[in-house]
Formats: sequence, structure tokens, C-alpha cells
Amino acid sequence: MRKKGGVSLLGWIVITALTGAIAFVCVSLWASRQAYLREAAVTPTPSITPRTVRITEDPARPTSTPTPRLFQSGSVGIEIKQLQERLKALGYYSGETDGEYGAGTKAAVESFQALHGLDADGVAGESTLTLLYAQSAQAFRETPAPTATPESKLLSTGDQGEKVVRLQQRLQELGFYSGKIDGDYGKGTRNAVILFQRQHGLDADGIAGEKTQAVLYSDQAKPVEVTPTPEAIQVLSGSLPLLVNRQYPLDDGFAPADLVNMSDYCDSSLVKIKYKDTMGVREAVDMLMEMLQAAKDDGVTNWQVSAAYRSIKDQQSIFDAKVQDYMDKNGLSRAKAVSATRKTVADPGTSEHHTGLAFDITVPNTSSFISTEQCKWLHRHCWDYGFVVRYQKDKEDITGFLAEAWHIRYVGKEHSAVMRDRNLCLEEYLDLLMRQGTP
Ligand SMILES: [Zn+2]
Repeated sequence: MRKKGGVSLLGWIVITALTGAIAFVCVSLWASRQAYLREAAVTPTPSITPRTVRITEDPARPTSTPTPRLFQSGSVGIEIKQLQERLKALGYYSGETDGEYGAGTKAAVESFQALHGLDADGVAGESTLTLLYAQSAQAFRETPAPTATPESKLLSTGDQGEKVVRLQQRLQELGFYSGKIDGDYGKGTRNAVILFQRQHGLDADGIAGEKTQAVLYSDQAKPVEVTPTPEAIQVLSGSLPLLVNRQYPLDDGFAPADLVNMSDYCDSSLVKIKYKDTMGVREAVDMLMEMLQAAKDDGVTNWQVSAAYRSIKDQQSIFDAKVQDYMDKNGLSRAKAVSATRKTVADPGTSEHHTGLAFDITVPNTSSFISTEQCKWLHRHCWDYGFVVRYQKDKEDITGFLAEAWHIRYVGKEHSAVMRDRNLCLEEYLDLLMRQGTP
């Protein structure tokens, strides 16, 4: 054994191999570090420019309500639900106890305040809340109707005559009705009644029953609030279509009347509703179904609705998700991701889907709608049913949106036919009407 004074041959081989391996690892690490540094120099580092990040400072997000004992329009949460329940128990409120402080809740608070000698501002502050939850809180009493009140008989769609004339006149006086005073309780009258009911915390059933008439002909009747809500209803009663875009966003609290759950409401043999509980405005949904029945008669079937009504909350999450996607997948800075997102996703509050009148029509399991026979049929015929193809290629400059073959918007037949014949998008059409003085 030659052990003493040296290292064995095997030892030398091991040492040499180890040294080589260590050197190799070092060189590799160095090379990849260099590659990383080169890359880092090219890839823009996401810069944090909070002023351009609209979404983080959007006032629409109801997350921060630091004052716990003051509730008003726009407030949301469990306390609002409790407030609504209490108002309901006392008979001031008959809407949904959904935890959202909307016009109905405000009106109920006002009635409560008026009856309790408080300043009827519709804001539930400390003194209102104290009285409201007190044992001594008084239940709602209707102010006795003046003598001119028509005898309290229920009026509803289809009714005609003198009483309907008076109803229309009163609704018009308060700004809820802008149609003809013809004594016909039609859709326009019904919508006006619904609007009146919503604004006064009454059950919004469109029937002028005893309670509705009592409030309508009393001092409690308030003129129409100028919010976009009435426009959504008017759009379906023969006046101008509602315009929603970046210049004309909808109010955060906007909610269209008469929404139906399309998942239950629509004939599933005509259309597939992609997402459960998709909502749409009844009249528009009715026309959509009429249209799809006609398509079926023409042999064109296999339709899908992949989007309809979107609340402001839904719009915000869609927007946020898209921004995040651009940042994660394309490595864009937040500011760049926001501007990229704005090309295809409406800013929260500016989506037509907020009206409940817009629908994204697709074909199940088909990614390119534009190349389908359904798309061809839709673009040819939707106008006959009151729909328009809202975002078209030749109108991108005006609408500010890239063309969307799948997005149709209900405006009513009388408008859609003109827009088709004269090749006008909604912005151009309304502009033309304004210039002609036909508002
Ligand atoms: Zn759409």
C-alpha cells in the first residue's frame, strides 16, 4: 500500500473530477446571471404611478365607510339590511332588504323622519337611528288623501278612462310620465308608475293600487329624481334610447327596472344561457326570444347568451381581472395594463351591459363568432327586432370601441330600423335627432 506521503491515484481522480464540476457550476451560474441582467435591462420594470391607476381610487368601490353611524344613498352592508328590516317592520319600506341604500330606502327614511319631526333629508344619522330603533318609533300612517283623490280603485295595464287620465296627469306633473295623456294604461304609464313606486319605497309592481295612489296624490309625492334610472325606463316607453359610453357613464346606483332572470325565463330550446342567473330587462329579453324564434324558423339554431346585465361591481371585477392579466402575462406596468384594458373593457360605469339592454350573443363552444352562420343571420335581422350591432368596424372612431360582432343592444324597433337604413351608430343617431330638434 503506497499510502504514506501522497494521495492515492483514486484520490487524485476524485479531486480532479470535483474541481471540474465546481468550476462548471460557477461558470453556469455566472452565465445565467449575465443573461438575467441583460433581460432585466430590456424588460420595463413596472413603474408605480398611482395617479393614473384609476381603478384603485374609484369612488364606486363601497369598501371604505369609516363612519359607522351615518347611512345614506350608496351605503351598503349588514347595517343597511337591518335598517331596511326595521323600516319594513314599521311599514315605511316595502322594497327588498338587500343591504343597499337606494332610492327606496332613502324615501322610506324620509317618510320616517317627516313623521317623527326630524329633518327629512333621507340620511340616517345618529338622531334618526336612535328614534328608529326606539320602542317609541311610530308605524307608518298614510296621510289622509285630499278630496280630489280618485276613489281608491286599483288601476293597471289595460285600464282606460278618466281615472287613468288623472293618473297620467299626476305622474306627468311630477315628471315621471312624458307620454300622451290618452287615458290608456299602457307600457309607458306602467313604467312611470314603477318608477314612482321605486322612488317612494313602494312595491314596484306597476299597478296603481290603493297605497300607490294614496302616496301619489298626497304631499309625500316627490318629483322625479334626476338620475339615469328614469332614462332606462323611458327608453322602453318610446322616447330616446339611453346612451352609455365614456362621456355618458351611468350613476353608480343605477339599476334597470324590470330585470328577469334569463336562466329561468328563456326557452332553453331556443337559447343557452351560459352563466346561471344572467339578468336582462324583460322587454329586451322578450324581443330577443322573438328574434331567436324567427332564426329557428329560418333554420338557424344553436344560440348562446354569454353576457347581459352587469352591475357596477361585476364591471369592476372584470376590469380588474383584465388589468391583472395584462400585468401577469404580458409583463406590462399597471398604467400600461390599464390603458390596454380600456380598449376592450368598458370603464366601470360606462358599460352598456349596465342597462340590462345589451347582450353578448355567441355559439356554444365556438370561439370565433364572426365566422358563424349565426353571426351572419344576427347582423342581417336583429334590426327588425329592435336591436343594433352596437360596435361596428367603420364606427370605431366614434364609439371608441373595437368592433364587437357579438354585442347587440336593444333600442326599440322604431330606432333600430332608422339606424340600419342610414348606417348610423347610436352616438350619430342621437346627435342627428338632437340637431333635428326631435328629442
Ligand atoms: Zn357586450
